[in-house]
Amino acid sequence: MRKKIVAGNWKMNTDLESGKKLAVEVNQLIAEKGNPEVKVVLIPPFTHIFAVLNSVNSQRIEIGAQNCSSESKGAFTGEVSVEMIKSIGATHVIIGHSERRNYFKETDEMLNKKTKLSLEIGLTPIFCCGETLEQRNAKNHFSVVEEQLNKGIFGFEKNDFEKIVIAYEPVWAIGTGLNATPEQAQEMHFFIRNLISKKFGNETAENISILYGGSCNAANASQLFANQDVDGGLIGGASLKANDFLGIINAF
Ligand code: PEP
Repeated sequence: MRKKIVAGNWKMNTDLESGKKLAVEVNQLIAEKGNPEVKVVLIPPFTHIFAVLNSVNSQRIEIGAQNCSSESKGAFTGEVSVEMIKSIGATHVIIGHSERRNYFKETDEMLNKKTKLSLEIGLTPIFCCGETLEQRNAKNHFSVVEEQLNKGIFGFEKNDFEKIVIAYEPVWAIGTGLNATPEQAQEMHFFIRNLISKKFGNETAENISILYGGSCNAANASQLFANQDVDGGLIGGASLKANDFLGIINAF
């Protein structure tokens, strides 16, 4: 059975002290009253990963990175490799967040390389896909997402593909306060699962976790997560407040 996952993407927020404080608060709330069936992943900035790891119960909360290099090592000033991320104790890495695709011009080819390197070293990629508002209004949202998946991750062997977590994040919903409706989310998640089924078979499709991301919060999470094909969330803004994040974890 596929896992329920709630992952908190802190983006470029918090300094070290406030990041540690947030991690301690989240850790405590989850220990006291978090839904034990939900896998929780905290994804702080690179600079905080080690401290956050040491502030939480690592049996209960896993840590991820927000990005990785598409190169494995060498003269790439400012880059962080999958090996570095793995060696610090993180287990997950976000790949292809729309902010990386848009602001940093990350291409499908780069994202494919990043995913490949992550899989090789044993990190779980959280692979993001999603359309802009313009693409949705033009009714191209299904083909856009299909192309992102085709170019990014559908070329892997089945046993590698099965280790990936997918996050559907409509660009128009990220950080805007305008979440996809539960129907829109379910429709796209069902579409993605169907594509996986055609490519890798029904069993693989049934076992892949597909998270929703985009203005998901403690008030709307239960309606979104109630859908058959929505297996949790990749949470930005609402992951910066421990109580709100707990509310999302407990929304199943
Ligand atoms: C995100 O950054 O992945 C995200 C979904 O952000 P927000 O929840 O703030 O929309």
